[in-house]
Amino acid sequence: MTPALSGFDLALALPPYLSFICDACGYIYNEADGDVDGGLAAGTRYADIPDDWACPLCGVTKADFTPYQAPSLDALMTQLQGRRVGPVASRRDSAGVVIVGAGRAGWQMAEALRALDANVRIALVTACQGEVYDKPLLSVAMARSLAADRMVRESGADAARRLNVQLLSETHAVHVNSATRTLRTTRGTLHYYHLVLAHGAQAALPPSMPASLCWRVNHLGMYLRLRAALGDMKTDGTKEVLIVGAGLIGSELANDLALGGHHVTLIDTQEQPLARWPSEQAGQPLLSAWQSLSLRFVGGVSVASLVRKGPGYQLSTTDGQIFDADQVIAATGLHTPSRLALSAGLAWRDGIAVDAETLATSVPRIHALGDCITIEGRSSRFIEPIARQARTVAAAICGAAPVPYAARAGVVRVKTSSWPLTLH
Ligand code: FE
Repeated sequence: MTPALSGFDLALALPPYLSFICDACGYIYNEADGDVDGGLAAGTRYADIPDDWACPLCGVTKADFTPYQAPSLDALMTQLQGRRVGPVASRRDSAGVVIVGAGRAGWQMAEALRALDANVRIALVTACQGEVYDKPLLSVAMARSLAADRMVRESGADAARRLNVQLLSETHAVHVNSATRTLRTTRGTLHYYHLVLAHGAQAALPPSMPASLCWRVNHLGMYLRLRAALGDMKTDGTKEVLIVGAGLIGSELANDLALGGHHVTLIDTQEQPLARWPSEQAGQPLLSAWQSLSLRFVGGVSVASLVRKGPGYQLSTTDGQIFDADQVIAATGLHTPSRLALSAGLAWRDGIAVDAETLATSVPRIHALGDCITIEGRSSRFIEPIARQARTVAAAICGAAPVPYAARAGVVRVKTSSWPLTLH
């Protein structure tokens, strides 16, 4: 007779939780974590996900997810056996591919290169620590009580080891000399065989908002410092938070911080949030949904000044309104830093101008992808295209068959959990 299973044995008998990757954007669904905002409790198996569930980052459905395990170098080498080696690896000099930026674009670039060439030298230069994380999580992390270690998918050092990448973290790229094919950084000069710019965009601040007095939430490091400044709700209590700019990021953050228990005031020059998507008419339903939160929207105002006041800050608008806050966050749009591109002599059109199909810049051996590029003068600062862009650039660098890039209209899921929206 078989003895009855104890609870412990039952736990052991459960198959391990698996991960699945969104082929469109790279979001990883982990069965252990589920997608609580999307209605999937922790522990929800992939097989049990309803067909109409949407990727929390890019909006595609379950059918676009495939099983995922971070590829090990050994696995990549095995895959490559028998595949021809591209021209980069055959070069005798030590210069390899230098990638600037360790956001999604930079790491996807490294993965795509490594998937085509086991030997190419890859160096990745980043001003931050290089952690691999999903940036869209920053605007939903508070309500989900995500701690820093839950947001980092892989440390920069681990990702560098896994992909055999030389990671130069906390290193600023300063100047490109395209004649000598060198990149000057704050930690010395690197020679490159091929350079890929993936440094993204930065927060654009109105002149009336000094950078030293407000937070910008465009990368993990700054976000974690903001969270530290807001403190622990249990011990430090509710804070007054003022968010300037009610676009996607500002609206998501306002929603998230209010759900986290803070008093949030969201202001914008427009009369309603998300006013830049007029066809969606999202503003009014969003405002109605926010009535149940500690979230006040003030539209039609412009910032006149922002100053320190006691331990906090005071913001005045041009029409004479005064807002006091413990913390001020600017979500007033992005602009692409131009110094590196201009030093290399790259064509510039509100961003690094690249060819629509090849993502080549105007200078040989320099490609760019992600938030820092524009195609025919237009940027698309969304997640879905990045993995496809990386594959296009990697194929060109490694001499594989071309993988033409095609820009296509994206879908954005606005992660305002009190009124989730999909924008087209
Ligand atoms: Fe996705």
